[in-house]
Amino acid sequence: MEERDFDAIVVGSGCAGPIAALELARAGKSVLVVERGDAAGSKNMTGGRIYMHPLRKVFDADTLATAPLERRIVREKIMLMAPDAEFTIDFSSDAMRTDNDSYSVLRGPFDQWLADQAEEAGAEYICGIPVEELVKDDAGAVIGIRAGEDEITANVVVLCDGVNSLFTEQAVGYQRPPASAIAVGIKQTFALPAKTISDRCLVSSDGEGMAMLIAGDATKGNFGGGFMYTNRESVSLGIVAGIEAVSKSEYPIYQMMEELKSHPGIAALIEGGELVEHSGHMVPEGGLHIMPKLVGDGVLVAGESAMMCINFGYAVRGMDYAVAAGQMAGKAAVRALDAGDVSARGLSCYQDMLEDSFVMKDLRSFSAEPEFLEHFDHMFCGYPEMVRDIMNNMLVIDGSPAKHVKDSVMPEVKKMGYLNIFKDMKGALKAL
Ligand SMILES: Cc1cc2nc3c(=O)[nH]c(=O)nc-3n(C[C@H](O)[C@H](O)[C@H](O)COP(=O)(O)OP(=O)(O)OC[C@H]3O[C@@H](n4cnc5c(N)ncnc54)[C@H](O)[C@@H]3O)c2cc1C
Repeated sequence: MEERDFDAIVVGSGCAGPIAALELARAGKSVLVVERGDAAGSKNMTGGRIYMHPLRKVFDADTLATAPLERRIVREKIMLMAPDAEFTIDFSSDAMRTDNDSYSVLRGPFDQWLADQAEEAGAEYICGIPVEELVKDDAGAVIGIRAGEDEITANVVVLCDGVNSLFTEQAVGYQRPPASAIAVGIKQTFALPAKTISDRCLVSSDGEGMAMLIAGDATKGNFGGGFMYTNRESVSLGIVAGIEAVSKSEYPIYQMMEELKSHPGIAALIEGGELVEHSGHMVPEGGLHIMPKLVGDGVLVAGESAMMCINFGYAVRGMDYAVAAGQMAGKAAVRALDAGDVSARGLSCYQDMLEDSFVMKDLRSFSAEPEFLEHFDHMFCGYPEMVRDIMNNMLVIDGSPAKHVKDSVMPEVKKMGYLNIFKDMKGALKAL
């Protein structure tokens, strides 16, 4: 093995990067993390809620107890929003209070905590400097990074630089995905007293919280949806919408956001809240079809730089994939370094580990889902209005003779078209 400045360099300190660095450092390897933000998390954004299962594989319970998690999510809401109505499925279960739980997070403190864990394990950090280029040897293997005037070499480089990776093309020949496979997310965070949040969301303590996804009028009928997550003393509210859909829509995304905030189903939940943060970020939504190669000579790609994110419609997942992939990338790099072979072949155990895990299993089994959701037009405009009309027929009493349920439901279903509903149901059952 060549003499290099470090055994490994990790580019980016979001969710994947610090975990990869931690695995390497725990195995006694010298590892440098380079993060362009002034501090880990300063450039990052999520909805967001993280599913805890992969974190429990990295950290013991005592360490996890020090993580800046916001609220354990014990109430899930899925809202169908029409301009003048909303229909909400509201679910809570004791199963959400087990180790298969999830927590809301704010990325500033959460990413900093992840970075602290990597540093405590022995990883070195440089923040506030963007990596500009990968360094390759004459045979084309990645052997380091260039940042400003500095060239720093390593036997393995782990790319964890997120959805807009500048390096996957140079590292593994990746072509950037089409706009139709990428969404844009915007989020506003409103400060509110903890007790107010708990009362409004019907959770029994300030350690518990709610997640809500919103389909329909949140994006003015365009491909996308809204979200709300309760933090300890704030509420995160936002929209994720397809870049292509937004570029063709008469509604700019900021206007969607303004109208979402004033919708009666949302306004009551944020009333009196002070706007304390406004952020925006891209979200990869193309799944398996837009993934780059994950391994090259001297290089591994993890998290959103490998497009590991799925919008299930009822939940968005990316952080748990990033944590798990970061851990596997770290372990694979250690194995390759120990074997003295950091070629794509030596590092290929990373691909094997991922294939064996929920990460690639999910990405493969939901590979048809992005295409389906993109064309599920009635979910964004049609079904919310149909459900509104059915519920109005049943629940708004005007003194005329009461209707049987079938007479409240069937005329509205007929308006939508049996065939349309059948086609949508069939597609949803296949893709989701
Ligand atoms: C609006 C929105 C809502 C979401 N909701 C959820 C949710 O509820 N649950 C969920 O699980 N996921 C959610 N996601 C997805 C989730 O946030 C991502 O999947 C996750 O953050 C990916 O982690 P990562 O470590 O791969 O990348 P990131 O967290 O993006 O980290 C990449 C890091 O690399 C750094 N970097 C980039 N370029 C360079 C460079 N040249 N040099 C040095 N450093 C660099 C960045 O500054 C950043 O720190 C959401 C995303 C958005 C945008």
